[in-house]
Amino acid sequence: MKIPVICTTLLIEKSPQALPLGAACIASAVKHYDDLHGLVDVSLKAFCLEDKDFPEDKNKAAQYIAEQLIEKACGKGAEQALTGGQAIFCFSCFVWNIEILQAASKILLERGFITIAGGPEITAHPSFYKGFDYTVSGEGEISVPLLISRLINKSEKSDKVIISQTPDLSVIHSPYLDGMIDPAEYEGALWELARGCPYKCAYCYESKGQKNVRVFPMERIKAELELFARKKVPQVFVLDPTYNVNKKRAVELLRLIASKTPDTFYYFEARAELIERDLAREFTRIPCALQIGLQSCNEETLRLVNRPFDKKKFVRGLSILNEEGVTFGLDLIYGLPGESFASFREGIDFAIGQYPNNLEIFCLSVLPGTDLFDRADGLGLIYEKEPPYHVMKTKDLSADDMKRAEKLSKACATFYNSGRAVPWFNSVCRLLKIKPSKFFDIFYEKHSDFCRQLCDQCGNENHLEIEKIQLEFLKEQCKLKNLERYYPAVEDIVKFYGAISRTTDTGKEESISLNYDAEYVASDYASDIKYFVENLRPKKCRIQIFMNKGQVDFRYKK
Ligand code: SF4
Repeated sequence: MKIPVICTTLLIEKSPQALPLGAACIASAVKHYDDLHGLVDVSLKAFCLEDKDFPEDKNKAAQYIAEQLIEKACGKGAEQALTGGQAIFCFSCFVWNIEILQAASKILLERGFITIAGGPEITAHPSFYKGFDYTVSGEGEISVPLLISRLINKSEKSDKVIISQTPDLSVIHSPYLDGMIDPAEYEGALWELARGCPYKCAYCYESKGQKNVRVFPMERIKAELELFARKKVPQVFVLDPTYNVNKKRAVELLRLIASKTPDTFYYFEARAELIERDLAREFTRIPCALQIGLQSCNEETLRLVNRPFDKKKFVRGLSILNEEGVTFGLDLIYGLPGESFASFREGIDFAIGQYPNNLEIFCLSVLPGTDLFDRADGLGLIYEKEPPYHVMKTKDLSADDMKRAEKLSKACATFYNSGRAVPWFNSVCRLLKIKPSKFFDIFYEKHSDFCRQLCDQCGNENHLEIEKIQLEFLKEQCKLKNLERYYPAVEDIVKFYGAISRTTDTGKEESISLNYDAEYVASDYASDIKYFVENLRPKKCRIQIFMNKGQVDFRYKK
């Protein structure tokens, strides 16, 4: 009888970004390991917090996972018949799931099963978690199959804590190509193109990793793209922390993507300082968006976290993206060493001034296993000692400042990101003579419940509902500043671009009424609202927004 080996994890949500790629990679490696051929029956089982039957209570969740795993390994009611060691469970652990997975593992250990843990949280401090039989730090494609082979063949005793050997990316198996994971099930894929990073940001696991970037071979990449094409995968999140660090390869891959999967939407992480015009043009040939880490614009802060930053080149790179029409978002972090509340606000103002499609603002986590973790005390960072290790205060940011930063983050996520405000937000701030961070402050004060609720909904928001709140808020702000005469133009711009974004999203037609001629609302004139109102006469119209040969367009209605 083959021994069941189940690779498992717990996901926050069922989405392409959350897809259990790490667990699937280990399952594929075990499946193809010669010494285990014919001896094991390997499979993947992912749990999800969103599953209808998944218990909310952590203890019950751990019990549920353990029972489901036993049932999968042994069949219903069969666990009593098994003696220890007849099934092996490999857990893929992250900061958000370690607590529950470790508790589930303890239940399995009590019943005599073998458990192995790996993943980023174990890699960070492999000796810390005692609730597993074995912990494997690092990439597990070589070490986990070897460990399982030793356990099954009883050939050699193994250490309880294993520091893994780095696998050769040209020989490890793709979990997509061998059918271990089906991207169709997750409506998209997480796509690994490389491992490692040339940078060493102190808060990142890569801070202590190898500095070299190892890339997957082109044949594998081509075969995976062909699979994505066959399965009509709608979206792909590229796992390569600095996609454009090697421009030649980045261009080659973009051309390949354009030829094999022209209709799939891609998400890349890129370095703004390295954006050049020819590369930006290649990005425009496929449906895609770039996410770019800014983290802070305070030079001292960035020096303290070992993050090189050239503001001039950064701005130039983003200008090229804007000129070429490439969609990009920016990331900021609050709670970084050396960052005051004032400089954090400057970061928001600077970031919004670059016209990002979205601005994601995160609280810093001091992750065990990172360089920052080692230096945290010296840098004056006070943080949670358990996952998610969020910073609570710093030498320069009080606990109150941290709460204010969180509020700004929620207001930005609500008004700017979910409110799809990029086409008009800077124009409105200029009209109101207010900086973006101040704007978010006031918005949160007025609509804190709405911001909190929306952020909890995680992407299931109703844009029309947000637009209504935006318009109410903007009307009030215009009134407060005696700018009421400009509000009809503000209303038009918000409604026009809101409808455009919804039609682009859903393909459904929208009808809206405007105070000004739609041609002008859609023109560059509208970016200077004062000039617009002072130089154009209102002319009420009703328009219909629709898709025309893949492009969004509008026509006047009678
Ligand atoms: S944060 Fe990104 S750029 Fe910095 S070391 Fe980590 S992966 Fe590399």
